[in-house]
Amino acid sequence: MSLPQFRLLRPRTIAEAVDYLSKHSEGKGVERAPSPASSTALRILAGGTDLIPSMGQKLFEPEYVLDIRHIAELKGIHPQQGSGVTIGALTALTAIEHSNFLRQHYLVLTEAVATIASPVLRNMGTIGGNICLDTRCLWYNQSLTWRKACGFCIKKDGDLCHVAPGGAKCWAAFSADTPPALLCLDAEIEIAGPAGTRRLPLRDFYTGLGDDYRKLQPNELLTRVVLPEKSADYRGLYRKLRIRGSIDYPLAGVAVVMRRSNGHVKDARIGLTAVNPAPVLVKGATELLEGKQLTEELAEAAGDLAAKTAKPLTTSALTPEYRREMIRVFTKRALLAAASN
Ligand SMILES: Cc1cc2nc3c(=O)[nH]c(=O)nc-3n(C[C@H](O)[C@H](O)[C@H](O)COP(=O)(O)OP(=O)(O)OC[C@H]3O[C@@H](n4cnc5c(N)ncnc54)[C@H](O)[C@@H]3O)c2cc1C
Ligand code: SF4
Repeated sequence: MSLPQFRLLRPRTIAEAVDYLSKHSEGKGVERAPSPASSTALRILAGGTDLIPSMGQKLFEPEYVLDIRHIAELKGIHPQQGSGVTIGALTALTAIEHSNFLRQHYLVLTEAVATIASPVLRNMGTIGGNICLDTRCLWYNQSLTWRKACGFCIKKDGDLCHVAPGGAKCWAAFSADTPPALLCLDAEIEIAGPAGTRRLPLRDFYTGLGDDYRKLQPNELLTRVVLPEKSADYRGLYRKLRIRGSIDYPLAGVAVVMRRSNGHVKDARIGLTAVNPAPVLVKGATELLEGKQLTEELAEAAGDLAAKTAKPLTTSALTPEYRREMIRVFTKRALLAAASN
């Protein structure tokens, strides 16, 4: 599949990137119908492991591609004395996977990263690209010819949803592995734009809409992820359902962090991915687990709560029922494992 024509911009600093974004993010682009996910005239290229295949499928046809790979200040894992760690948006997934510091203090993140795609894709792919990853659907991640034959859909070029016909909402599933782990760690993100730099909790970044899934203006870019000190040293696990064990997107993913004291749960959080249009924290999980001994029954109750939070639809391979059931099973297993080591 050939790439659409575009102009390549290569900034060397964040300031230069923001300057390009201010000038070119409102350009023409190639549009067939208004669609928030694809309407940007400029696309940011980090590792390109998702953007380039998507451009080949003509899901994005930007006039400009902003290649941020040469911005050194966007790379690196920087522990901050007494206030956690910052991770540059352009840091390779492999660097995170092999970071002794992160493995020691923020284990759930390194666990989740290690399950992404394959070693080669983790060398190329970045944490910023993973957080900003487009939502996925069987009706969307297809070639232009395929989508045209089906009459397109709301997320790109059309006005109907094949998954929930009659509705006006896109339910494409958010399918990146690190966000549920980052949500459990109470991560914040830093975003740069013409108005300066803003910081927001990651939990406020996603909208829950499949076709307009993140709160990022076309003239903004993600610069850093911040993990707070208070989230360090939790026990953490990530469990993922996929078809090919060696290289595949999650079809259901569960991240769990837990701190215990005297054999009782002191604090715990559960994050989900690939079963909703946004990664989510399971509401009520902390309250359910806090102060109790983690028995089989309690882990099962938490699994039930997680399964209720999951709303998988026919956007992905495997049935929604099976994916929801695996959320229940993984949550229970992950909690019991976290409590036993
Ligand atoms: C075969 C295959 C298997 C895969 N399996 C998985 C998997 O198991 N789990 C998983 O999570 N992912 C998977 N992926 C997707 C992808 O490899 C990863 O999500 C990776 O982390 C994306 O990072 P990237 O730097 O390559 O992003 P890019 O492809 O460069 O960008 C992805 C999106 O994020 C935007 N973006 C990137 N950086 C920024 C930034 N700093 N600010 C604002 N916007 C930005 C881009 O504009 C684009 O919309 C897979 C991909 C392939 C091809
Ligand atoms: S959920 Fe519906 S609108 Fe969204 S990508 Fe799938 S078919 Fe298209």
